[in-house]
Amino acid sequence: MHTPTTRTATAASAGLTPADLLGPRSDYYHLFDDVSGADLEAWAQAARFADDCLPVINDYWERAETPRPLVNRLAELGLFNDGIQCEEFTPFSPLAAGLVMMEVARCDGSMGSIIAVQAGLVMRAIALYGSPEQKATYLGPLARAEMLGSFGLTEPDHGSDAVSLETSARRDGQEWVLNGQKRWIGFGATGDVTIVWARVAEDSGAGGGAGGRGAIHGFLVPQDTPGYSAEVIQGKACLRAIDQSLITLQDCRVPDSARLPGVHSFKDVAAVLSATRSGVAWMALGHGIACYEAALAHAAERIQFGKPLAHFQLIQQRLADQLQKVTAMALHCRRLADLEAAGALTPEMAALAKVHNTRAAREIAADARDMLGGSGILLDNHVIRHMVDMETLHTYEGTDTIQSLIVGRAITGKGAFA
Ligand SMILES: Cc1cc2nc3c(=O)[nH]c(=O)nc-3n(C[C@H](O)[C@H](O)[C@H](O)COP(=O)(O)OP(=O)(O)OC[C@H]3O[C@@H](n4cnc5c(N)ncnc54)[C@H](O)[C@@H]3O)c2cc1C
Repeated sequence: MHTPTTRTATAASAGLTPADLLGPRSDYYHLFDDVSGADLEAWAQAARFADDCLPVINDYWERAETPRPLVNRLAELGLFNDGIQCEEFTPFSPLAAGLVMMEVARCDGSMGSIIAVQAGLVMRAIALYGSPEQKATYLGPLARAEMLGSFGLTEPDHGSDAVSLETSARRDGQEWVLNGQKRWIGFGATGDVTIVWARVAEDSGAGGGAGGRGAIHGFLVPQDTPGYSAEVIQGKACLRAIDQSLITLQDCRVPDSARLPGVHSFKDVAAVLSATRSGVAWMALGHGIACYEAALAHAAERIQFGKPLAHFQLIQQRLADQLQKVTAMALHCRRLADLEAAGALTPEMAALAKVHNTRAAREIAADARDMLGGSGILLDNHVIRHMVDMETLHTYEGTDTIQSLIVGRAITGKGAFA
């Protein structure tokens, strides 16, 4: 596991190499040895964050509390970036964005998910589809964590089929009136602004949808707007350091200037989700590495039958199996970054990597948990937190099955969703 240190200088001035961040027993094919310059610096910033996060995250996780000082630290280190075009910073390259997601998730899944929501979903949607005024109002404060953003797509009756969402937006003069419910929305009750995805009537003047149904549009709704109410979902066993909410919109009025003018249909929402899907594949890699490294360290230290566990053949086979999975996951990620940099990454490719990596990380986590014996269920050893957090990565941003159906449609030419 990443050893906490107190690195403060830049990666270059500190003489940091990729091997300092991910040793050869984890990056077995030296896939990241050539990371340099701004990419290495971004990765090192994420490792600095992990140094601060690791010693305290379990306490927040146990209390189901978002660590606000750590959210601020993500901002200080420039990690709400995710390759987004924004005046606040130079966008990360796809490789840098991926390495940051990997390194943060290697420490903690809630913190990785906070980047995914704040930068990957909210800032990306505003950067892609917002008006100049909306960008000026929101992007800087979100990048600096002065505001927390929320992305309201899923509804109680529409998860995998979010394309059928029912939240409505009715035009009334210069205002929009929003009605409906959203479920599972990160920072939906504890943030500042929520992008509410809603269906507008065809005669609204905002562009109707196909097949007699209104088109989907996005609205930036400050959470203190009358008619907006939200309650945090309780009893969650994963990602406990970020909350999700059930939001109710009851005649919630926002001005026309709150509508994202660049959104014309659900395809625009899907484009945001596709962009963040590779981030989930990278996060799964981080979780997988953390669990493999914990199992490797435990095998070296734990003595049974008079010898360290690492001495036994079956233990070595299990570690080698975990390393095979970590290496395959890293190959997916490295290739995704290269394809994205070349402008050749398709949503189906990102879906394939998400399916592969979340499955593999789940398997590594379960095996590592067992290899730690009873100690594997203790938060102090971190593996159980990674293991349960992986359950959510397997589901959110499109379930394993839905990603497989996306790939299946691409290779057979036949949609099998309905
Ligand atoms: C911790 C957490 C954080 C989240 N954060 C957000 C957020 O910030 N914003 C947001 O908008 N959403 C968020 N989500 C919602 C998430 O994207 C959905 O949970 C996900 O899309 C699945 O929807 P669902 O839970 O309604 O499951 P369902 O769609 O009901 O799926 C249930 C099961 O049925 C399967 N299934 C569905 N359709 C088919 C089909 N056609 N064929 C075969 N199998 C099928 C699924 O794969 C799954 O196994 C979050 C969810 C969680 C758990």
